[in-house]
Amino acid sequence: MTKEICISNKKDILYFLKTKSKKRIQNLFVEANTLSEKYRKNKVHFRGLIEFSNVCEKNCLYCGLRRDLEIDRYTMTKEEILNAAKFCLDNGYGSLVIQSGEINTQKNLYFLVDVISTIKKEYNLQMTLSLGEMSKTSLQKLFDAGGRRYLLRIETSNEKLYKKLHPNDDKHLFQNRLNTLKNLKSIGYQVGTGIMIGLPYQTYNDLANDLLFFKELNIDMLGMGPYVPHPKTPLYKIKPKLKDAFNLSLKMYALARLFLKDVNIAAPTALQVFDKKGREKALTSGANILMPIVTPTNLRKNYLIYPDKPCIEDTKEKCFNCLNARLRSINKEMGKNEFGDSIHYFKRQKK
Ligand code: SF4
Repeated sequence: MTKEICISNKKDILYFLKTKSKKRIQNLFVEANTLSEKYRKNKVHFRGLIEFSNVCEKNCLYCGLRRDLEIDRYTMTKEEILNAAKFCLDNGYGSLVIQSGEINTQKNLYFLVDVISTIKKEYNLQMTLSLGEMSKTSLQKLFDAGGRRYLLRIETSNEKLYKKLHPNDDKHLFQNRLNTLKNLKSIGYQVGTGIMIGLPYQTYNDLANDLLFFKELNIDMLGMGPYVPHPKTPLYKIKPKLKDAFNLSLKMYALARLFLKDVNIAAPTALQVFDKKGREKALTSGANILMPIVTPTNLRKNYLIYPDKPCIEDTKEKCFNCLNARLRSINKEMGKNEFGDSIHYFKRQKK
């Protein structure tokens, strides 16, 4: 019987981030998984990921979709998006994610309002939006159309570090990102944010502060993943200080679970760049959400935020079967036809 692990402050977080003791790390993962299963039993909820456009107005220094990169740009048609959504419905996903680069045009907004309201009306799927920063008015329109969750990664809560990851102009302001997160909350979205782990310049102290930041912001969902350097981006030449982004990511899922308790935590596909069983390891270390890609196969190669992205040759059917097999291998199962909304969100609504 192991002694219960309590993560209640920065000192506890830093201790586990830095420890090399295999036994302690293993105990941390076991406890995080036990807490996860207390909330969700052995269920993992799927969000079908529709990467509907790789067009982006921004130029983040780490991203394979950044404006200055010459890549084949695409935007899916309404019919293609509905087709992917129907697949999610038919296969019991319950939820989907509509994701793109940042496109702040009225045309795009009206297109999204139309698509989101159609999906809500025809399929009644729960929708997470991941579309970058927008005005409060636009976010409200998307909420009114039927979007209920929004994922906007802060990437790092350290403003100085944020500035090193982004161009120095008024399109890439840390404060705008923070304001958008606050607006999302005031509109009534389930709010998700997250960070990259193992970034250049990032320290253990930054990662511990990120977890405190999530707590302070009272977020509902977390999307954290290891930083995968992209050779065609400016940040590539700066080598990270922290070693082993993969194992640090697993620690962060576990620490987030024990510190934040009832939030939804995604096991990102990027983990598989480092370890074939990356997502299974995350799901047994505190994570409880999978985001199988349902973007048409012919477009996937053009949505490479990071290099060596897994699943880009696969079909949505193959991803579905593969992920279910992965879940069986860790004695978990898909939460079929369930929204799997953030428990934390409903608790904070009651307060
Ligand atoms: S991280 Fe997002 S906003 Fe930044 S360049 Fe990439 S797609 Fe655009």
